[in-house]
Amino acid sequence: MSMEISITRNPQPVDDARLAEILADPGFGVHFTDHMFTVEWTPERGWYDARITPYGPLTLDPATAVLHYAQETFEGMKAYRHDDGSIWSFRPEANAQRMLRSSQRLAFPELPVEDFVQAVDALVEIDQRWVPEGAGEKSLYLRPFMFASEKFLGVRPSQHVTFMVIASPAGSYFKGGIKPISLWLTEDYTRAGRGGMGAAKTGGNYASSLVAQQQAISQGCDQVVFLDAQEGTYVEELGGMNMYFLYADGRIVTPETGTILEGITRASIIELAERLGHPVEERKFAIDEWRDGVRDGSIKEIFACGTAAVVTPVGRLVWEGGEVPGATEGTGELTGRIRQELVDIQFGRAEDSFGWMHRIC
Ligand SMILES: *Cc1c(COP(=O)(O)O)cnc(C)c1O
Repeated sequence: MSMEISITRNPQPVDDARLAEILADPGFGVHFTDHMFTVEWTPERGWYDARITPYGPLTLDPATAVLHYAQETFEGMKAYRHDDGSIWSFRPEANAQRMLRSSQRLAFPELPVEDFVQAVDALVEIDQRWVPEGAGEKSLYLRPFMFASEKFLGVRPSQHVTFMVIASPAGSYFKGGIKPISLWLTEDYTRAGRGGMGAAKTGGNYASSLVAQQQAISQGCDQVVFLDAQEGTYVEELGGMNMYFLYADGRIVTPETGTILEGITRASIIELAERLGHPVEERKFAIDEWRDGVRDGSIKEIFACGTAAVVTPVGRLVWEGGEVPGATEGTGELTGRIRQELVDIQFGRAEDSFGWMHRIC
């Protein structure tokens, strides 16, 4: 069954001239489209009042639960314009299913997969003029999110929940060409412990990563890499990207610890790499394997992946008292190839043999 979505059009949409200006250089997460999607939930009513309305601020009571106890989950995905003008998303059911898993961990009600996809599609369709031309890897970034909207300071799962989708045009992650990111290895902070929220996409994980990211910047690095909380030995991931290591014999290793956030880009790369003849091992990956592998040349390429950057080469790794350089200069050959294959599928320039693309309009 599909949701009944009521639509109130924005009486003052951004005019064409201003829109062209925004889409020429959208940046990331600064401009928002003319509309937003909202649906609410209570135990009595279930999901109700699905609607698209003009984009605008929310009025929240200061006692709204999310502001105090951070019961919140979110998703990140993109809509891509193909050369024929049509608009597509990439594996939206995978985002919907991940939101279900995150929601279960955060004690939220379940939003059905088909309702999630319908909500995203409906917003993109009404705001389709906001989807940039695909040249230069521009896209419309989509942010579905769910939060505890009950006015109540007692600690329990919220009895009023709001799910929304907002959209924001995005430029390429890499301005002026792809270049390797440098990483700071934090030994002071972890992002997820056993039984914690590491596998859920929730704001709290990002809140706890900020101070480590600040440290990375002050050490002259681009991003931070986290180790497992229990032993401080195994590579987990970056604040918002998963990691890959290519060995000289063609094997690829990607960390799996039970506490990482499993990216949809990560899952897609496993399939792509295997098709390219590279077996992928999902396993615990010790930080010493990284250091030793770069030093003795057995690791050939290192990259990170996520919706925003797709794939980014990883350069030097720095820690308190030492560092190793990147495994390659610039972008490694397989890193570049995997990146290009994914981008080509997303923008409709290569055959979608995995059936990953979903046409919106
Ligand atoms: C969202 C996210 C990723 C990447 O997931 P994608 O689905 O590939 O965008 C990786 N790590 C964390 C912590 C994340 O929140």
